Amino acid sequence: MRDIRFSASIAHCDRRHWLSEEDIRVLLGRLPVETYQRLRAVHFNDQSHGVRMLGYVSGGRREIAICALPPRLSLTRFLVRGQSPSMFGARRGAQWPKLAVRRYMLYDVFLHELGHLQIVDPGSTKERRRFAMERYAQEFADHWRGTLWARHFEHTDPIHNAPAQEESADGVRTTAEPSAAPNGGPAAPFGNSAVLEGPPLVS
Ligand SMILES: [Zn+2]
Repeated sequence: MRDIRFSASIAHCDRRHWLSEEDIRVLLGRLPVETYQRLRAVHFNDQSHGVRMLGYVSGGRREIAICALPPRLSLTRFLVRGQSPSMFGARRGAQWPKLAVRRYMLYDVFLHELGHLQIVDPGSTKERRRFAMERYAQEFADHWRGTLWARHFEHTDPIHNAPAQEESADGVRTTAEPSAAPNGGPAAPFGNSAVLEGPPLVS
């Protein structure tokens, strides 16, 4: 893999970096070299401005920044047409499990930003014509996520594959309400309720 520089700035308040250099290297290792030929650096920074920005390109479209985010959040409002929270292992209206956040940040946000680095019209000197804009960047992300998730990838970190069945069950876990017991049985959350961490920050 060609030389790519990684940097991480300190995340303030309780924000944290959700991806690591290793995560990105694993993903890049699964892609054809041509797709990341322009990529010189990846920066983990703290520029989300209150979860308004997840990532962006910089450095003459040779660098990608991935923003630090709070420990508890929902990313549902960032989803585009054709996407659902369950695709990443989350549930609409609830905060996202950690694996779902990381999976989405890597296999959607990072891939989308990498899409913006692609040259679509080499003959053009105008940046808007020369480089992939929103639609192409998202198509690039959707294409590669679909391609990479179509076959199981052997890796200990589950974010490199589509969410597993039992992981989706984590996403639909709800607080135990007396009315949640369907037929007089005890009302109990599915599985381990310790995963519940409070209300969603955004939704
Ligand atoms: Zn974009």
